Amino acid sequence: MARNEWIENANCRAVPPDMFFPSQRTRKLTIARARGVCAHCPVIRECARFVLDEKINCGIYAGVLLGYGADARPAAIEALKRIVGADDKRQR
Ligand code: SF4
Repeated sequence: MARNEWIENANCRAVPPDMFFPSQRTRKLTIARARGVCAHCPVIRECARFVLDEKINCGIYAGVLLGYGADARPAAIEALKRIVGADDKRQR
């Protein structure tokens, strides 16, 4: 698959982008909805790898809330690594 071609198969293409960038007011419900979209996404592994490679630091990707500050939360980084690693093991 060519670089970033995976985005064509992303579940989030069919939902409003703000769902993945929750405001304080709608945060709880929005995060739950976004995670629901990501949970069944066929390219969740590619997404997690992309976020790690590009050092993206805000929003929700691969069902993981990265944070709002200058750096993604360490726990979020670990969660993304698990998604990438878990899928690597499944393919063996
Ligand atoms: S896993 Fe990534 S590509 Fe898939 S729906 Fe979630 S944010 Fe979008």
